[in-house]
Amino acid sequence: MAARGRIAPCGSVGRVTDPARLDVDLALLGGGGAASLLLAALDRHGVRGPRIAVVDPVRRRGQDRTWAFWGHPDIDLDPLLSASWHQVEVVTPARRRVLDLTPLRYAMLRSGPVYDRAAEAERRLDVTRIAAPADVVRDDGTGVVVRTGDGREIRAGWALDSRPRPPARAGRTTWLQHFRGWWLEADRPVFDPRRAVLMDFRTPQPARGVSFGYVLPVSDRYALVEYTEFSPDLLTDAGYDTALAGYRDLLGLDPDGLRVREVENGVIPMTDAPFPARPSPRVVRLGTAGGATRPSTGFTFSAMYRQADQVARALAAGRPPVPAPAYPARHRWMDAVALRALDSGGVGGPDFFDRLFDRNPAERVLRFLDGVTNPAEEIAIMNSTRLLPMIAATAGDAALRLRDRLRPARPAPAIPAAVVGGPQRPVPSPEN
Ligand SMILES: Cc1cc2nc3c(=O)[nH]c(=O)nc-3n(C[C@H](O)[C@H](O)[C@H](O)COP(=O)(O)OP(=O)(O)OC[C@H]3O[C@@H](n4cnc5c(N)ncnc54)[C@H](O)[C@@H]3O)c2cc1C
Repeated sequence: MAARGRIAPCGSVGRVTDPARLDVDLALLGGGGAASLLLAALDRHGVRGPRIAVVDPVRRRGQDRTWAFWGHPDIDLDPLLSASWHQVEVVTPARRRVLDLTPLRYAMLRSGPVYDRAAEAERRLDVTRIAAPADVVRDDGTGVVVRTGDGREIRAGWALDSRPRPPARAGRTTWLQHFRGWWLEADRPVFDPRRAVLMDFRTPQPARGVSFGYVLPVSDRYALVEYTEFSPDLLTDAGYDTALAGYRDLLGLDPDGLRVREVENGVIPMTDAPFPARPSPRVVRLGTAGGATRPSTGFTFSAMYRQADQVARALAAGRPPVPAPAYPARHRWMDAVALRALDSGGVGGPDFFDRLFDRNPAERVLRFLDGVTNPAEEIAIMNSTRLLPMIAATAGDAALRLRDRLRPARPAPAIPAAVVGGPQRPVPSPEN
């Protein structure tokens, strides 16, 4: 039987009498990844009580990103997956390691089915859609007033806010995960659909940062091939194409036998800067804006999924829609140290990830990256990194924290938009 979600009453809830004014229990500000997973979770948990509005100037549909994540099979997302793999490869110039992820698996989910499922959930939950930006959000402690770009006022018991925003202040390390991927269709079988390439560090390494390629095959002729950098600055359009063409050549793929069917570009923050998850009593931030992006990897999806489930369960049980923090504080500290070690050059990216996978079961590393390991497992993970550079990075991080306490907070730079572009046909190899 469907649960009747009840949330703590607020003075603002009442009948809609004025089209410019809307009273709801939950206002979802932003309707992207985090909100889509939340709508699906509310529907899945049978939450039918709260009146819900989604405020987003854009209705997200179709393919605008591909999510890769790991986890146990048989979650409700399984029917939506494009592919999943129990084995993945981690490749360095020195070796090719095949990791068996059992009991986990690595999975690929295209955005279209996620947005479609959220749209179905919206219908069942009788959601009001407002196609305008949320401009002003004011929380008086008993409810939230949202003013939208088209002049409406929404009074909500709670606001679940996933609008993109920079962190509250500058971090000690501010890197970006930035990438371009080509969906490649081949004339003949060239991909191995039994395995994904998780990280391939044979790409030329940037002066400051880490680069790698990866391959997510959905069949022997169709795959997403991506070039990714963890570094402070974006490349140019031509820079991404050259890097990606170089990686395609490293894979031994013949450009004449390939067609680029789609191009995917993205930028994800990798920083120890704070993303406050609860900026005021009745505003809860979700998604990247709420700190769901893991600073050391840019992976976000699993934390968004977990938090969506927690919010839905809370509402179904009549509790406030507040999830647990995306990652435990000790993980955020370890990520800050890892970013410091990488940024200072004390630790090389390929070496860092290679040692993690060399000295730990793959499952432990992946659960660690999702923030769900216990302290004993985390000590084992820390022990697999190079000791002296990590001690230096820990000391450097502590010194910078002290500096941050003593001087006024610096504003964080905005997260830049992705460099959009990329050819519809593969870029020829440099020698052609
Ligand atoms: C191309 C790409 C690929 C990615 N792949 C992976 C992956 O493989 N694995 C992984 O773990 N993570 C991945 N990520 C990171 C992360 O999972 C995604 O960015 C995810 O979409 C974040 O969800 P979100 O809800 O925080 O932000 P978004 O999905 O970006 O949603 C934010 C929403 O806010 C809306 N908005 C903006 N301004 C306003 C406003 N003023 N008022 C109301 N609404 C507003 C936007 O229109 C948008 O719909 C990827 C990111 C990108 C960009």
